[in-house]
Amino acid sequence: MSESNRLRIAIQKSGRLSKESQKLLKSCGVKFNVNEQRLIAHSDNMPIDLLRVRDDDIPGLVMDGVVDLGIIGENVLEEEQIERQTLDKPSECIKLRQLDFGACRLSLAVPTEFPYQDAGSLEGLRIATSYPNLLRRYMQEKGINYRDCMLKGSVEVAPRAGLADGICDLVSTGATLEANGLYETEVIYRSMACIIQSTHEQSDAKQALIDKLLSRINGVVRAKE
Ligand code: ATP
Ligand code: ZN
Repeated sequence: MSESNRLRIAIQKSGRLSKESQKLLKSCGVKFNVNEQRLIAHSDNMPIDLLRVRDDDIPGLVMDGVVDLGIIGENVLEEEQIERQTLDKPSECIKLRQLDFGACRLSLAVPTEFPYQDAGSLEGLRIATSYPNLLRRYMQEKGINYRDCMLKGSVEVAPRAGLADGICDLVSTGATLEANGLYETEVIYRSMACIIQSTHEQSDAKQALIDKLLSRINGVVRAKE
């Protein structure tokens, strides 16, 4: 049985969003203990189960209605949404609200010696990225042709390794770029973490729990502003 009376929330298992996601839920009064070996953490005081997965899996789990809620970076959400639209797969979800963590930007960067003027300087060149859809959308808007170099990791070393001329990667401080002899030339997307809900129909009890949780989240986030 995959349907459950308990509210299912997908959060990142381990990474930049996992601690803050857990902290947010705890400050909303959801009690749970995470066992690092386990996929699921059950709350003991509310009918809520936390599903701890790779962040990339979260938008799809919500869009397919496997889980009810998810906490995810807007960058990953938007990338998956475009990907699914091109594949004609379900891509709908409700963004309940932006959260106050996970700030980063998706930027173009090139080697320090690259004579960069504007994004047009990348015409015909190869760009390494883990976000091919967000990059394509930006470059199409600008009318620039470029070549893809799809990498799930180590994007920042691609130019030095001779795999690409530039990169399109997540940046928060810029220290990683600098350490790899790159500089940021263009911000193509600004992102924060957000909480999303499945568009699949919920029971009244589950929707009431979602409403209660969201109102607590609003309180917690506003109190910090
Ligand atoms: P997973 O193993 O879950 O796939 P990951 O390596 O893809 O993890 P993280 O590096 O943990 O992901 O980043 C998760 C999210 O954190 C990013 O998608 C982004 O929304 C946010 N984030 C905030 N700052 C940064 C940053 N400096 N670099 C990368 N991601 C950042
Ligand atoms: Zn990931």
